[in-house]
Amino acid sequence: MLRFLLPVTLACSVSIAHAQQHEDSATLRKLADDVLTHSTAYANLKVLTKEIGGRLAGSPQMPKAEQWGFKALKAAGADTVYLQECMVPHWVRGDKEEVRIISKRRDFVPPLQVLALGNSIGSGPEGITAPVIEVASFADLEAKKDQVKGKIVFYNYHFNATFIKTFHAYGDAFMYRAAGASRAAKYGALAVIVRSMSHAANNFPHTGAMRYNDSFPKIPAVAIGLEDADKLSNRISDDKDMKIYFRTTCHFLSDTIGHNVIGELKGSEEPGQVITVGGHLDSWDVNEGAHDDGTGCVQSIEVLRAFKALGIRPKHTLRVVLFANEENGTRGGQKYADAAKAAGEKHIFALESDAGGFTPRGFSFTASPEQRAKVKSWAKLLLPYGLYDFDEEGGGTDVGPLNEHLGIPIGELSPDSQRYFDIHHAQSDVFEAVNKRELELGAFSMAALLYLIDEHGL
Ligand SMILES: [Zn+2]
Repeated sequence: MLRFLLPVTLACSVSIAHAQQHEDSATLRKLADDVLTHSTAYANLKVLTKEIGGRLAGSPQMPKAEQWGFKALKAAGADTVYLQECMVPHWVRGDKEEVRIISKRRDFVPPLQVLALGNSIGSGPEGITAPVIEVASFADLEAKKDQVKGKIVFYNYHFNATFIKTFHAYGDAFMYRAAGASRAAKYGALAVIVRSMSHAANNFPHTGAMRYNDSFPKIPAVAIGLEDADKLSNRISDDKDMKIYFRTTCHFLSDTIGHNVIGELKGSEEPGQVITVGGHLDSWDVNEGAHDDGTGCVQSIEVLRAFKALGIRPKHTLRVVLFANEENGTRGGQKYADAAKAAGEKHIFALESDAGGFTPRGFSFTASPEQRAKVKSWAKLLLPYGLYDFDEEGGGTDVGPLNEHLGIPIGELSPDSQRYFDIHHAQSDVFEAVNKRELELGAFSMAALLYLIDEHGL
């Protein structure tokens, strides 16, 4: 009997698995159809970017964005929407930034196009006039450390064009922005100018957060566009007596109150177990925060809208979080994880979209090999939608603390990265840079992954 029963049992479980795959495939198709025809993501993004605009923590746009998020989550059909308070830093850019070449030559050199780096101190109202020294890398800085005192250091470290995924070039270069000022201050530099982290064939400077090492004096820092970086480099080798006039007035005000904006669809079977999906609501002050990270916010809201519209009631509670203050503090992400831990919440998985609203290719994960293998077992279901890349390590900045504090797996949408660093933290990150269809495909991809995790666990 046993010899006869075993194949029957096996055949039964195979056909159940087949039926399940069929059902998953049909649900994904329904989700895609709905998102690609009824999405509100693009319209939501337009309001956030065009009516509110840049929304750095502490800015007057921050509470407006929070109200926008609250309303958008209600409109998407969330069961409950609430604000989670957290203290956020309040950095302001101040007056117009000015960095000029001062030369004995009579030729006219237009001022360099610069942006102060986020969290930088200012130069003081009088500005700084000093000779400049160019370094190609930190190793070059070390080699030239005796020549740095009393000068402005120009980090001309190039974004590495040979990395196929541009996030790898960013990972390679971003320490020059984040830590360059303190490393130069260690040797007596007065200020730093950093070549922007970009391949863009234009002259937009790209800002972004920097951090001081308290062991060294705090000196001001700006980013410079690529064309100006090349011009400055040529000038330095050509005009030995030139100096730089450097003036910025950025500064910190006292920390202020910000909020994570949270909307939930209560789970039908395990309401006490949470799946989080989110993006960050704040952006740099110099642009509309479209790809970074308006797209992540509206895609996350879209996941909830599509579930609700199609009557897909998740088994676990689906929580959409629009995180406060990712750009210059990550206080929103920290607060969310701290509160989850303090409340003893059980979390299953957290997904972020903060790599741009471009054509989705897959997801990165910080997860165990078994968890990653489980995602890969769904590859056949996801491939028809262009999703094939599940190997990358990572997870969004805002969901990182959930992984650290609760030990749960996290992931991030991986869109095509070729154009992201053209606009990242630059003036050009505006609504017009987002393609409606790419945005929606990203939202669908997130919904598809979360549906599968909700249904089959991870
Ligand atoms: Zn971002």
